[in-house]
Amino acid sequence: PAVEPTVFESWSQRVVLGTGAARTALAGEIERLSASRVLLLATEQELPLARELAASLPVVATFTGVRPHVPVEVAEAARALARSNDADLLLSVGGGSTTGTAKAVALSDRLPILAVPTTYAGSEATPVWGLTEGGRKVNGADPVVLPRAVVYDPQLTVTLPEAMTVASGLNAVAHCVDSLWAPQANAVSTALAVEGLRSLAQALPTLVSDGGDLTARRQALEGTYLAAVAFAAAGSGMHHKICHVLGGAYNLEHAAMHAVVLPHVLAFNTPSAPEEASRVVSALASAGFGGHGSAVGSLLALYDVLGAPRSLGALGLSETDVDEAARLCLEKIPPSNPRPVGVTDLRALLRRAQAGQTPT
Ligand code: NAD
Repeated sequence: PAVEPTVFESWSQRVVLGTGAARTALAGEIERLSASRVLLLATEQELPLARELAASLPVVATFTGVRPHVPVEVAEAARALARSNDADLLLSVGGGSTTGTAKAVALSDRLPILAVPTTYAGSEATPVWGLTEGGRKVNGADPVVLPRAVVYDPQLTVTLPEAMTVASGLNAVAHCVDSLWAPQANAVSTALAVEGLRSLAQALPTLVSDGGDLTARRQALEGTYLAAVAFAAAGSGMHHKICHVLGGAYNLEHAAMHAVVLPHVLAFNTPSAPEEASRVVSALASAGFGGHGSAVGSLLALYDVLGAPRSLGALGLSETDVDEAARLCLEKIPPSNPRPVGVTDLRALLRRAQAGQTPT
């Protein structure tokens, strides 16, 4: 009988990773991309850093109107600035929101992006873009928005507050775990996911005790990249679909929401995904979180060490939102999820996550 073929598509991207790289490598990367008119994008908060990094680069304009989830009017303003200055390259310095704003311009204006990430969101390594209009989030995938080059510099992540290091790091962990059972999961994405999970689980506890540890910062960025490439290849599984709905409808903080939801999805899927769960167990065991009896037990042991967020209620989801949220999520769960999902399952899962209860 004919079997559906597995498809693994990889995209070309140049990645430079090193302490100090943001100060030494950007000029060369801009030259490689044959660019001479750079639009710099950053939040107001990251602006001093971005200006310092770009001091000797051919910047023709700077966009600082970045807002979470890329509202369409923000995208339009950034596009207008790029056009009026005849920019030929987008240089984004910041987290997923800043990379996302550059992607919105790349989507319409076909300009290349050079990304300098400062969080563990991983958007720089995916062809996925997102825009919001009137509270509704629209996503798509287009290789044109994938940054042509990425410069990872551990030094830039030292300023992340501990809570953001943890939440953003667990956002990357969620890319790894969810890509084990996502619709296009395959041998390559799984290998990347397992190694990404091990790197992140090793680095994050060190960063909680010493946020200035540049070796652990570097390892966390390596994990971020592995996680994001795995996610880009495997697509959105149950976890990402739930977070997409919750983020769009209730405007919950992106990274922390991912951190809260993940153990609940892992606990739910484990009975129907023994192989994937055992990969999580062994990756976490090799990072020092062994002997906890189950995949979710190991993940929660990591959460304990990190003081990770546990409740969607604390992020702004109210108890009365749960029923509606469960219905909204149900429509989005991929049919390929290892365990069939009904609205009662989602209601129970979200109720526990909302209240900060232990996943079952
Ligand atoms: P973010 O970019 O919104 O940043 C959160 C906050 O952290 C901001 O206030 C920012 O100024 C600050 N910050 C960033 N770097 C810092 C640093 N080094 N030190 C101190 N503060 C710093 O948050 P995020 O979690 O990086 O990104 C979330 C967004 O990215 C969401 O909109 C999400 O949908 C998107 N995302 C997209 C993809 C994709 O593949 N397309 C993947 C992951 C996330």
